[in-house]
Amino acid sequence: MKRTLIYFDNAATTPVFPEVAELMFQLVSGNYGNPSSIHEIGRRAKVELEAARRQIARLLHVQPGEIYFTSGGTEANNALLWGCCKSLKRKRFITTKLEHPSVIQTLESLREFMGCSIEFVLVNEQGAPDLDHLESLLFDGAPAVVSLMHANNEIGNLLPVEKVGELCKKYGALFHSDTVQTIGKMAIDIDRSPFDFAVVSAHKFHGPKGAGAMFVRSGKGIGPFVSGGSQERNMRAGTENLAGIVGMAKALELSYVDMDITEGRIKKIRDFLLEALPAEIPGLRFNGNPMGQAIYTILNVSLPAGMDADMLLPRLDLAGVCVSTGSACSSGSNKPSHVLSALGIDQKTPNLRLSFSRNNTLEEAERLVEVLKEMYKK
Ligand code: PLP
Repeated sequence: MKRTLIYFDNAATTPVFPEVAELMFQLVSGNYGNPSSIHEIGRRAKVELEAARRQIARLLHVQPGEIYFTSGGTEANNALLWGCCKSLKRKRFITTKLEHPSVIQTLESLREFMGCSIEFVLVNEQGAPDLDHLESLLFDGAPAVVSLMHANNEIGNLLPVEKVGELCKKYGALFHSDTVQTIGKMAIDIDRSPFDFAVVSAHKFHGPKGAGAMFVRSGKGIGPFVSGGSQERNMRAGTENLAGIVGMAKALELSYVDMDITEGRIKKIRDFLLEALPAEIPGLRFNGNPMGQAIYTILNVSLPAGMDADMLLPRLDLAGVCVSTGSACSSGSNKPSHVLSALGIDQKTPNLRLSFSRNNTLEEAERLVEVLKEMYKK
């Protein structure tokens, strides 16, 4: 018999909406055309591809021409940051030590291969960027690219986007934001936002893995980033992942249905844990700023001493609870989290990232508290 699992690792990936899976199956089996072919079968595929682009653009409040499909968030971050350097000739990048590896490591490559500089904005112990420091960096040098993520994938902090945007505007900086953890969870009007570049990853909002997109504000055009074909208006060569792209558009559409109600339900789960966890496990602390500017889908906790940090995940797994420690990408590798390290958080005691979706229930949260409590009793 299959045992029932509790899945609190939705910042790593989310279960695919059944409607999305069904639609993708229909496409894979029924619409096999190559969107670049000019015959009827190819044209049918092209129609689906462009309808998906329009749908995504409509939901994000951007122009279809500002959306380019990619294989996900990692590729989009790489393409955008390389594009800022190669096409837009920016050599100065300002970021924080809390960014996703697809940003930090791309910037390190730009420094190594293109002679770019990376400057890190200071953050406080809760992970909020010091905006005075950002301003002093912007004031001091050549026009930069500011790359600051919208919601942190480990601790959930939300960026004060408008304030950062004002500073970018004042000093002529381009504003790239890794929006992977917010798109599909918050209704963002990207056109009215100060973002020049933003990023979509379908599997974070119940879409398929291997499908994503990037937003490039019109007038901030970057050049081709994969060569060898004319797909994506010459920007990204290669036959499109049609089923993935159409699945992504459908998942985004479904994420917008009752988004407020879903948010309210998830917030109840999160609020319950915010209260119950420290009450039941003395010494437990929350990382980041969960009571302040934070996305409702992520909670990061440091557990008290008394449990071997390496044993926590396997023991929770044994109890049927799926969570992660550290970042999604390094989970399983037992590497300390670079985000918690940057915040000076001791990682000798175990930490957990709990991340939620519309599929979670309050009963699951209660069960998690019970399981952790039992573990600490033992
Ligand atoms: N950026 C953030 C903030 C993420 O959380 C992730 C995924 O964990 C990514 C980028 C990478 O996205 P993808 O898995 O689509 O490559």
